[in-house]
Amino acid sequence: MDHRHFEEKLLNDEQLAPKENKAFQAHIRKCAKCAALAEANLALHNVVMATPAPGFASRFRIRLEAKRKAQRQRYFFGGLILLVSGLGVLIWLAIPVLSAALASPTQLLVAWTSYIASALSFIKVINEAGSVLLRVLASFIPSSAWVLSLSFFGLLGLVWFSSIQKISRYPQMI
Ligand SMILES: [Zn+2]
Repeated sequence: MDHRHFEEKLLNDEQLAPKENKAFQAHIRKCAKCAALAEANLALHNVVMATPAPGFASRFRIRLEAKRKAQRQRYFFGGLILLVSGLGVLIWLAIPVLSAALASPTQLLVAWTSYIASALSFIKVINEAGSVLLRVLASFIPSSAWVLSLSFFGLLGLVWFSSIQKISRYPQMI
């Protein structure tokens, strides 16, 4: 058994057989390199795995719980402020309407009905104009262009859908 044999065993941190050990003890008396390696191995074996101080886990849990509680409180108060300010804006917007309604309910009703009617007629006009435009476009544009644009919008929709999926899958990242 030569130096290379022992060095390999030491570097791989392999156990020596009893017979080997005797030869090894004789060898390290002459070989400084193997002696140093053996000492290093012994020191490494004697290092005790660093363990956290007792109660570390519970302290960590308590700290985490306190942090979460603070975050929940922040969310709650943020939501409350948002709600109150939103309500304030709503009330501020509603005051003229409400006062008008209280002053003359029939007038408000008439105004609302005419508003809804005009909105409906506007939608109808837009719809008709759109359908006319589409028919004109359809007669002008070749069918291959339609297929191309349709597939483009389909792809766009797919990308949009997948991005929505990603966002809804990781809601805590936002
Ligand atoms: Zn040696």
